[in-house]
Parts: sequence; C-alpha cells; structure tokens
Amino acid sequence: MRQIINPFDQSVVTEVEDQTREQAIQAIAKARNAFDHGDWQHASPEHRAAVLNRVADLLERDKEDIARTETLDTGKTLVESRIDVDDVVAVFRYYGGLAGLLHPKIVQGAPADVISRIDYEPVGVCGLIAPWNYPLLQISWKIAPALLAGNTLVAKPSEVTPLTTIKLFELLQEAGLPDGVANLVLGTGPEVGAPLSEHPDVDLISFTGSFATGQRIMASAAKTVKKVALELGGKNPNIVFADADIDIAVDYALTAAFFHAGQVCSSGTRLIVHTSVYDDFVDEVARRADLIKLGNGFDEDTESGPLVSAEHRAKVESYVELAKQEGATLNAGGRRPEEAELQNGFFFRPTVYADCHKDMRLVQDETFGPIITAERFETEDEAIALGNNTDYGLAGGVWSQDVDKAQRVAKKLRHGTVWINEFGPYLPQAEWGGFKRSGVGRELGTAGLHEYTEPKHVYQNLKPAAQ
Ligand code: NAD
Repeated sequence: MRQIINPFDQSVVTEVEDQTREQAIQAIAKARNAFDHGDWQHASPEHRAAVLNRVADLLERDKEDIARTETLDTGKTLVESRIDVDDVVAVFRYYGGLAGLLHPKIVQGAPADVISRIDYEPVGVCGLIAPWNYPLLQISWKIAPALLAGNTLVAKPSEVTPLTTIKLFELLQEAGLPDGVANLVLGTGPEVGAPLSEHPDVDLISFTGSFATGQRIMASAAKTVKKVALELGGKNPNIVFADADIDIAVDYALTAAFFHAGQVCSSGTRLIVHTSVYDDFVDEVARRADLIKLGNGFDEDTESGPLVSAEHRAKVESYVELAKQEGATLNAGGRRPEEAELQNGFFFRPTVYADCHKDMRLVQDETFGPIITAERFETEDEAIALGNNTDYGLAGGVWSQDVDKAQRVAKKLRHGTVWINEFGPYLPQAEWGGFKRSGVGRELGTAGLHEYTEPKHVYQNLKPAAQ
C-alpha cells in the first residue's frame, strides 16, 4: 500500500494500492478483450456521447466532494480545485456534443462511378498516463475523447495524486460504461506505466508529464509502432511592452507564474519586459509576490498552497543556489516561509529574480515551481527572439495596447498557445499542445478527438468493368 500525503501538513490522507506490472498487464488484457469482443466500439457515437454527458452530470453532483479531495491530495486551493472540476465537466460535455463528427464523411471529388467515404474508427486500446499537478483534469482530457471515439482504455494517474481519478472511475461505472472499457491501474511509472508503452496490445499511448519521461515513452512505443501523443513541459514567456496596461499586466504576471505554486506546464515564469518600464515593473511584481498569503488550501484567505512533495520542493530549492552561481538578483522569496503553522508543509515563497539573461539555466530549465526570471528587451524583434529562446514551445503571453503589434508578435512566437492581454485560460473547443519539446499532437478541440480515431477510406466502384 502507498500512503497519500497531504502536502499542507504531511498528514496521511489515505492509503492506496500500489499495483504490480502483472496487474497492469491484466488491465491491458481486459481492455483488449472489451475492444475486440465488446459492443462499445460498435455502439453509435450518440450512445457513447450520452454516457459522457451522464459522467458530466455525476461530476456536477459530486463537485464539492471531488474538489475537496483534489485539495487534500495536491495542496492547491479549494478555489482552484473547484475550477478544475468545472473545467472537467465542460470537457465531458464538449466531447458529449461531438458525436456528429464521427459520422462517415462522403469525399467530394471522387470519380462519377465511385463512392468514396471516410469512416472514423477507434484506434483500439489506449494507454493514458497523467501527472500530479492537474490529476483529474489531465486524465479527463484523454478519457473523454478516447471513449467518445469508441476506444477502450487503461488509465494511470500519478502515484502521488491518484484520488480524484479513482473517484472518476467510480462515476464512469455509475454512468453505465460497460465492464472492461475503462480500466484503472495504480502505482509507479516504471511498474505500471511502462507496460502501457511497451505492450503490443496497446495501440495508442497518450502521456502528459515531463520531457524525460515522454522521451522514454516515445522510444519504448517505437518498438511496436504505437500512436503517440505527448504533452510535456514548458518554459513560457510573458512579454510586456511599454504600451501595455501596466497595472493589469502586473496582476497577471503574478497569477501567470504563481497560480498553483507555479506547478503548471503553461505557467508564465519567464517575464520579458521592455527596458523602459523594466525596473518599476519587476519591483512591483516582487513587492506583490512578498504579500502573497501561503496557507492551507481550505482556508478562504489562502492565495497559494504548498508544493506537492518534499522531493519536488528540494528540486525547486536547488535553483536558489544555481541562481546565485549564475548571478541573478533575488528580489523576492528564494526561501521557505517563516510562519510556524506552515512548517510541516512543503512550502516555498513566491520568488522573483531580476537581471536574468537568456543563457542562464535558471531561464532555460522548467523549475515547475513559483520562480519568475525577469529579462529585459529593447526592440520587438528582440522580444520575439527571447520569447522563442527555449527548447520548449507550449504557451506564451503578449501585453500591449497596440493590437497590430501584439498580433504580429503572437504570429512569430513558436508556442502552441499565445495569449494577448491575458495569461492562462484555455477552452475545451481550442486545441492545446506544444511546439518543439513541449510535445507531439494536440488535446482538446476536434484535433483532440481525432487523435483517438483511425480515418478509414472506403472506396466503392459502382461500375466495375473488366480491365
Ligand atoms: P513525470 O514525467 O514524472 O510523471 C508523469 C506520469 O508518468 C506519472 O503518472 C508517472 O508515474 C508516469 N511515469 C513515470 N515514469 C514512467 C515510465 N517509465 N513509463 C510510463 N509512465 C511513467 O511528470 P510529473 O512530475 O508527474 O509532472 C510534471 C510534468 O508534467 C512537468 O514537466 C509538466 O510541465 C508536465 N505537464 C505538462 C502538461 C501539458 O499539457 N503539456 C500538463 C501538465 C503537466
């Protein structure tokens, strides 16, 4: 058994089974059998969509309980957890409304004596692996479209935060999903995650997590040539021009980087500010960072919770020493909080480094914690170059009241999402994913559904003649 620890005070929330490789292989066999011999893939898309909509109803019914569980498991504030559940409901409802996209499409332009048709068939058995920062959300972005398309699946949440995924699986059953269609495995990556990428009976693997694990999964999936979708890390620029609404840009610079204690793949940790407003801007961000109230996610006045684990905090803290070596100027944070009531939690103060330059590891590595690095620029081209100066390409923000300029810059940023005068939101209807090392493929939107389909071309000759 594995103890699930509340990151706020290290109390034991519950214990969860740690399964074995053999159990993961059994789960794959169940999914394979349900796909090959069950009715799910042959049910109408409307029938499958109705199940997704029932799941959304059940999630709404149990929203408060699920949100509280997510806060216990991850340490994020209850406000954030409630937003997560609302977003998950929206994703199930969105895919619950897309059955029509799975109907066969008649191809235009075929010869007169030919009917050419595209059928959208399911890929087969899908292995779905999620990280610990948005446990329910990330797994739902995969489960909803995979089920709508008629696949069967084996899902693996992070061993650090499995509780809301366990709850989701209870709701899938309650919603009437046939036995064997969705299977849950619990345990570590090497033990129960690796078989999903290795096993020949898994047809597709969709992974959200770190670059290093994604690379390993892609290499392993290559042995059986599975379909692979990867949502990996980010090191996301937040570019502020001098003509931005500065007060609003400061507000968003803080939430962009410190929401969920910076444990967000798309968090805006690379602040890139025009030199004419740089000093005042960075000073104000640092002053406000020092005021952020850390605490228990269940307390209404808490603005930020702890990091997820002792191990993760140690990784984030290692950047303090590195920053010193690299010559960045510490303007806020860089330490644990002093309050007595926070000493048992994995807290780290929101941190702001000024005088950063593009080649620092501090600027290049995904710290996955509440650390802002601030760089300065003079010209638009320089801002774009700095924005793209990363191996990742997940998301970025541009702040300017000159809409033409903001659009010009957005066009040139090599990131999967660009926000203008905003930072953070996504839509179930809009594709999400990364350029470069941030991943392969897209989630959400219609592309997020078609990741889970095999388009089959059926070509019928209406007047076959002897050749
Ligand atoms: P991680 O790579 O350590 O783990 C992710 C998942 O993979 C976990 O369930 C883990 O148990 C499993 N795993 C580990 N080794 C495995 C293996 N060999 N085979 C199969 N599965 C294995 O990542 P993490 O620390 O849980 O999450 C943080 C990372 O996730 C960050 O890099 C973050 O940017 C990324 N992330 C990306 C997005 C996105 O949308 N692009 C969203 C959220 C998080």
